[in-house]
Amino acid sequence: MTAAITDVAVVGAGPAGRALAHHLVLRGLTVTIVDPHPGAPWRPTYACWTDELPTWLPADAASAQVDSVEIRTPDTVRIARGYSVIDNAELQRALTVDGARVVAERATRIAPDHLITDSGIVRASTVVDARGTSGQGPRQTAFGVVVTRERARPVLGAAEAVLMDWTPIDNTDDATLDDSAVPSFLYAIPLDDERVLLEETCLAGDPPLTIARLRARLEARLGGLTEDALDTESVSFSLEGIDSPWRRTPLPFGARGGLLHPATGYSIGMSFTAAGIVADAIAGGRAPADDLWPSGARGVHRLRTAGLHALLALDADQTRAFFDTFARLPVARQRAYLSGRTDLPGSVAAMLTLFARADHRTRRTLARAVLSGR
Ligand SMILES: Cc1cc2nc3c(=O)[nH]c(=O)nc-3n(C[C@H](O)[C@H](O)[C@H](O)COP(=O)(O)OP(=O)(O)OC[C@H]3O[C@@H](n4cnc5c(N)ncnc54)[C@H](O)[C@@H]3O)c2cc1C
Repeated sequence: MTAAITDVAVVGAGPAGRALAHHLVLRGLTVTIVDPHPGAPWRPTYACWTDELPTWLPADAASAQVDSVEIRTPDTVRIARGYSVIDNAELQRALTVDGARVVAERATRIAPDHLITDSGIVRASTVVDARGTSGQGPRQTAFGVVVTRERARPVLGAAEAVLMDWTPIDNTDDATLDDSAVPSFLYAIPLDDERVLLEETCLAGDPPLTIARLRARLEARLGGLTEDALDTESVSFSLEGIDSPWRRTPLPFGARGGLLHPATGYSIGMSFTAAGIVADAIAGGRAPADDLWPSGARGVHRLRTAGLHALLALDADQTRAFFDTFARLPVARQRAYLSGRTDLPGSVAAMLTLFARADHRTRRTLARAVLSGR
């Protein structure tokens, strides 16, 4: 490998790294992408709120869109906010990186102005680290089956999609299904006109629920519905990126760089928006961390991390009550908490409302968890 200098080396070509490389190329910068499998199809089912999708994404980057979702605690609350499932193949096609140099290798060491792979060195004016989450700490896990719309009809009922169904599983004799310590919920989301994903999800666990346990819960919840599944999905990822990403060089980006909401596991929407911000900063000769991490964004990131610790401290009943309160917040306040990456007043207001509406025991648990960092 030659040691030619590139404007930007992007390490990691997942959705975040690829979106960033796309924007850098559009701005006329020379880009080197380093990933052991740079063109591999993305297998996970990616979804986000429709209003998080940037306008530059083509409409066919979504394979399914609904106008509302339900949260069941088990009371049913309808959330009037659009939700989209990504068509990964269309998205990868849309994120063109023509002209970028691609190095299909793993980076073994990265530094602010170069990185090392098995076959040599890549020198760059700026290196961005988009290698995915840290792998450490609390994780989100899930096990899901893909079924036909017809088979999913009894689960969805009148809902277009179910973001969270916290209804306890009705089987008290089986210890595997006991959810009093770490609860899980059902996520039921149309993938396209034909298929629906039904996924038992452990939002955050340290340790998290195992895939085997989630599978047992899903089978108990759905009865025979899992037997004729068209496909299955297993999910396991760390909810933590690199601590204080705004202080690090090379700049961590995407799920690695504080753009994954630690209390929900969503990152796609944030990374797509951030890709334009970082590309503009680099093209304009500014430090990208300054543009990406204004003080409001740092404050929100700290609050969200505290929110993860609070969530981990709640038992199953408290978790259900917490999400019942959350579901009844005005959508604008929900949006501030879930999607307002730089909206510190909005995040604070949403969290204070949740705290104020909790019962005494939950308030004590939340306060202890936040103050002790757990
Ligand atoms: C099954 C599943 C479902 C999910 N669903 C959603 C969802 O609905 N919505 C959502 O927002 N998030 C979801 N997530 C979370 C998801 O991980 C992230 O949102 C998304 O993948 C993060 O993108 P990323 O590009 O930051 O990191 P990743 O997708 O993890 O990409 C990291 C890239 O870095 C490369 N890499 C790693 N190490 C090196 C190295 N040493 N050198 C070079 N390259 C390297 C990897 O090959 C990979 O291509 C889901 C995750 C899973 C596993």
